Amino acid sequence: MTGLLRKLLLWGSENVFLKERMSRLAFVQRAVSRFMPGETSEAAIEEAVKLGESRITSLLTLLGENVTDADEAADVARHYRTVLEAIADRGPEAEISVKLTQLGINIGHDVAAANLQSILAVAEERGRFVWIDAEASAYVDKALDMYRAVRSRYVNTGVCLQSYLYRTAGDLAALLPLNPSIRLVKGAYAEPPEVAFPRKKDVDRNYRELAKTLLDGVRRREVRAAFATHDERLIRWIEEEAAQRGIARGDLEFAMLYGIGTAEQEELAAKGYRVEVLISYGTAWFPWYMRRLAERPANLWFVMKKMVSS
Ligand SMILES: Cc1cc2nc3c(=O)[nH]c(=O)nc-3n(C[C@H](O)[C@H](O)[C@H](O)COP(=O)(O)OP(=O)(O)OC[C@H]3O[C@@H](n4cnc5c(N)ncnc54)[C@H](O)[C@@H]3O)c2cc1C
Repeated sequence: MTGLLRKLLLWGSENVFLKERMSRLAFVQRAVSRFMPGETSEAAIEEAVKLGESRITSLLTLLGENVTDADEAADVARHYRTVLEAIADRGPEAEISVKLTQLGINIGHDVAAANLQSILAVAEERGRFVWIDAEASAYVDKALDMYRAVRSRYVNTGVCLQSYLYRTAGDLAALLPLNPSIRLVKGAYAEPPEVAFPRKKDVDRNYRELAKTLLDGVRRREVRAAFATHDERLIRWIEEEAAQRGIARGDLEFAMLYGIGTAEQEELAAKGYRVEVLISYGTAWFPWYMRRLAERPANLWFVMKKMVSS
């Protein structure tokens, strides 16, 4: 039943009819506000300043994907450059995370590469870090090619890998010689069984295998790894595995989404781990929000409650 609901919500995330109608409903907007402090970058930066008071780093991302117009993709790059300047001026510990489909990868590698490099150059100048999101499986080769291309020039960049894909262990092994920065997630898209583990149990098991490889890399100081998950059992397991390897708490990094596991975020930061919280903002939140619902269909109750509350 949960699997069916997940599939339905992920289908909904790509449905234009639903997107246009649902996004306008006030109760949906109220429910979404739990996961994002506001639609503007200013609201996100404001929240980053507050999170900084709890020693939490923010990871800012502008919602939107699948841009097919070169001017629009250039606007996204311009926006991120402005945000990098703003966070450097305002001072919160904050990084950004970009989607290659938003920077024009569907138009061509060179378009997205030019946009990404323009962002990386400002980030380097202002001492900031840029992550490349993991999108649907059709984009993994493109994202890894892009990462290799930019990593040879910029050290201030990392890429996200998904444990639900069969291929990820091989991808990680191939990236290790680059001294990469890797954010490890389970994966948020609807993927066929030909490319991704259909059973959650296998996704979780693979996450642990990949995490071991990453932790070995962290111990050797060859890898920056951010373990992006809200799975408390998994977090406890990573803490133990890291301790067994003699990794100091300040060298172990967890990442979570804004509004999810807030108490856990604060506890981890208080224990001395590095904690990063991804703050999404922007008006194009519908597909992203549907993926959040698919991760935990119980969130639908929250949406329904907002339907009746003012
Ligand atoms: C910082 C960060 C960056 C990410 N970047 C990407 C990316 O680039 N590409 C990509 O495909 N995916 C990305 N994701 C999403 C990720 O793939 C998972 O879909 C998501 O994190 C849920 O998986 P989980 O590891 O928390 O574990 P799960 O096993 O799914 O969940 C564990 C527990 O966490 C809580 N939880 C999880 N999700 C939610 C939710 N939406 N609402 C409320 N509670 C929840 C629940 O208590 C659940 O029982 C990112 C996630 C994070 C935290």
